Amino acid sequence: MKRIAVLTSGGDSPGMNPAIRAVVKKAIYHGLEVYGVYRGYEGLMDGDFRRFELKDVGNIIHRGGTILRSSRSERFKTEEGQKVAIDHLQKYNIDGLVVIGGDGSYRGANALHRKGVKTIGLPGTIDNDINGTDFTLGFSTAVNTVMEAVDKIRDTATSHERAFIIEVMGRDAGDIAAWAGLATGAESIFVPENITAKDKMIDRLNKGYERGKKHSIILVAEGIGTAEEFASYIKEKTNYDTRVSVLGHVQRGGSPVAFDRILGATLGGKAVELLMEGVSGKALGLEKNEISIYDYEYVFKEKPKHPIQVLCNLAIELSI
Ligand code: ATP
Repeated sequence: MKRIAVLTSGGDSPGMNPAIRAVVKKAIYHGLEVYGVYRGYEGLMDGDFRRFELKDVGNIIHRGGTILRSSRSERFKTEEGQKVAIDHLQKYNIDGLVVIGGDGSYRGANALHRKGVKTIGLPGTIDNDINGTDFTLGFSTAVNTVMEAVDKIRDTATSHERAFIIEVMGRDAGDIAAWAGLATGAESIFVPENITAKDKMIDRLNKGYERGKKHSIILVAEGIGTAEEFASYIKEKTNYDTRVSVLGHVQRGGSPVAFDRILGATLGGKAVELLMEGVSGKALGLEKNEISIYDYEYVFKEKPKHPIQVLCNLAIELSI
């Protein structure tokens, strides 16, 4: 293995830059040449490559987003698109590719692996929805961002004695809602993994107000419905003053927290080690504080079994 490349694909996440930095520095440390591929698989098909030196990853460890930029590409899903990409990799004599992205990006990495390109996947998404890892790159930062926003909303909720229904990202996964809910003392958390009856939320709201609670925080994961829907339900059943807040893309930005930087460094370094050993077709993660290494198929097989329900139930117990 003499030359490797790295790309970011799908939705960006804070933690991608520390991972890129780790791949580039680890590769150079071990005498490899390393290329940055811009705009994900689109750039791979366009030959949008650049040889990276140490200075190219200087001063990026604390930056959100991805210096390589990202894309979604329908063209890359075709045989023709993949062939063009492989031709470019061969032209540059690149023997290994690190793909940082979500499970869609892993499918692309798997397609290349099956066609003989050595690939390793790193879980780059705020949603924490990738099987085989307890945490994805960017998830912790997103939880912190939500926590800070909810703390601020709590101030105004208390001043006006309102119930705030806050919608957070996560696609089909409730991880961001569950973790941020526990971190902010939310009264109710609605996630796709846990069918919590809406009427129980009304009971809890009533009990809270009876004992003089000045506000209520309800977190809704986007995968189970909209904050508006939950607010309408509360308005139907009660007289409480409600407000809705949809946090949106603010959750995808920001300087990565320490955990995401460390995860990026750890997994980025390991990806280079594995490529140097000739390993391919593996997705990396962190499970029970150990680096996990799985075939892509394992990641596609099922959704992760994160303890969402446990966290949501605990949040409810702690919100009395
Ligand atoms: P996020 O979790 O942020 O959505 P993702 O990596 O899952 O990230 P996708 O848009 O699903 O995002 O996938 C990224 C890109 O990976 C796609 O735009 C496409 O180019 C490539 N890709 C997805 N599925 C396949 C597939 N079956 N074969 C080849 N390439 C694929």
